[in-house]
This record gives sequence, structure tokens and C-alpha cells, in this order.
Amino acid sequence: MNTQKKGSAKRQEGVVCLDLGGTYLKAAFFAKGVKISRVFTIPVPEKRNEKAIVTFLSDAAREVIQATPSVDVRGVSAGIPGLVNKRTGTVYKSPHFPQWKNFQLAERLASSVNIPVIIENDANLHGLAEARDGVGQKYSSFIMLTLGTGIGGAVIIDGKLLRGGLGTAGEVGHITVEPEGRPCNCGNRGCMERYASSEGIMIDAEEEGLSQVKEAKDVFVLMSEGNAKARRIVKRFSYYLAAGVGSLINTLAPEAVVIGGGLAKSWVLFKGYFMQELKHRVYPELISKVRIVRSRVGYQAGLKGAYYNAEAEGLLD
Ligand SMILES: [Zn+2]
Repeated sequence: MNTQKKGSAKRQEGVVCLDLGGTYLKAAFFAKGVKISRVFTIPVPEKRNEKAIVTFLSDAAREVIQATPSVDVRGVSAGIPGLVNKRTGTVYKSPHFPQWKNFQLAERLASSVNIPVIIENDANLHGLAEARDGVGQKYSSFIMLTLGTGIGGAVIIDGKLLRGGLGTAGEVGHITVEPEGRPCNCGNRGCMERYASSEGIMIDAEEEGLSQVKEAKDVFVLMSEGNAKARRIVKRFSYYLAAGVGSLINTLAPEAVVIGGGLAKSWVLFKGYFMQELKHRVYPELISKVRIVRSRVGYQAGLKGAYYNAEAEGLLD
């Protein structure tokens, strides 16, 4: 699959970047210096066991390469949702792909495409993009949370992604905020993502009997129209989010907390409740200094993060 030919002039070097989601895969070729080619958005097939996904990702990588002739492809860098050990290239499990178990994704994809493959958790890559292109230009240590169906996260310390000795650091959504609370697919109970996410809001809406709510953002709209039940839900959401974020600030002392993901669009509607609660939960010496800011990188953050990860891991050296 290496497209470098003997005797040819020096070709543009780069990597194929993949950003796998539960519904779509984004794929693009990045030449050195973050020069991005056309972005492919491909629906993830119904069949999503390990073998099917290796074939799907290989085909996507080939499609990207065929659309970008005369380049030297140094490898594939992929962002994968789930509990990912980047050191071993293993996805232990993934909420969107329940059939996977200790999936040796990097190794299997590499043997299919015949070039090196590196993988990382998708939210960690979002954090890496934020570190390079977004708020990272102002803060060297920050925690990023993507508030979506669940909660993704990344911890950036001194400009570097924290991976931890076991390789999976940054699962901030699974901090316990309610010790005997709702069961979570990680095996724990009462994780922050069971409350402070779209899914959490939808459970609350059902419990409150708000049958007109079709998606989480409807609750914020209802609240702004004066609905008391919706206000209660947003307050509860903010309470649990502040409990989790407060613990993270006290533990890691970041300069900033970056809020991204779909629910960040409603930030102005829950900011007040969130900040009020956070003040009770963080050392006064820290709360006056830590900045809570919105994510500044757009929807290509996952792909860009994959490129920066390839750079950091030496794929382009
Ligand atoms: Zn959990």
C-alpha cells in the first residue's frame, strides 16, 4: 500500500487519519504541516464485529489513498471510541461496538493495510487538537470534557496527553458522583456520565414525565420557556457535572476546564447553576484561578488530533 515508487521525485509525506464514531467514520489524508485533503464521511455498516470493522477501516484507508495519488503514506492514525490502550493498540471495549472484547485493532488493521497503524481514544484526540489549535494556545494544562450521549474526556498536562501507566487515562465521565446511583456499562454505578450527559437528561425527562422531549436539547429549550420540570432537570444535570468536575479540579489543578460536545451549545443556559455549585466543591484558592471555557475546535477535531498523535508518535519522522 506504500505508494512511494523507486526513482520518483520526493513525494508529499503524510498519514491517513480516521475518526470512528458510532454512526459515521471520517477519513482524510493529512500531509505534513496539517494540510488536509478532502474529508470522507462514510456510514458505519450494520455488521460491526471485529472482522467486519477491520475490513471497513482498511477499505476506507484505501479509498483515501486512491483519492490522493502521488503521496508517501507513512501510516494510519485512528481515533476509536471506547476504552483504548494506545501502548498495546487494544480496544478493551466500546459502547458503540458491544461485540468487541480486547480487540487488537492496531495490529489487525496494520496487517490488512501493510503500513503502521496507531490508535487512540477519540476524546483524547479531541483534547490533543484542542491543545494544539484551540485553548491549548493559552493554557498548557487543562481537562477537556465532551458532553454528548456519554461524556468523553482528555487530560492534558504540560501540553501532553496524560495516558497513565495502564494506557487508558482520561475517562473522566466515569468519576463517581452518586455512589449507589444508576448502573453504568463500565461496571461501576453512579458515574458522572449517567447523569451529566444527553442520555442522563433523557432518563430524567422520562422520570419527570416530559413526554414532549425528543432529544436532550429540548429540555434546555423548555427551561428557557419557563417549564419548572425542565429547570429541575437542568439544575440536577449541573449539580452532577459540578460534582465530577470539582473533584477533577481539586485532584489535577488544571489552568482550565474545556467544555465541548453537543450539550456545550446550551452552555449559557446551565452555566449559572454549574458555576454556583462548582464554587462549593473546589478549593477557594483554585476556583478563583481555574477558567471554565468552551471548546474552540470544530467538528474535524478528531481527525486533526489523529494527525497530531501521528506526529507525536513519530509516524512522520
Ligand atoms: Zn462508568
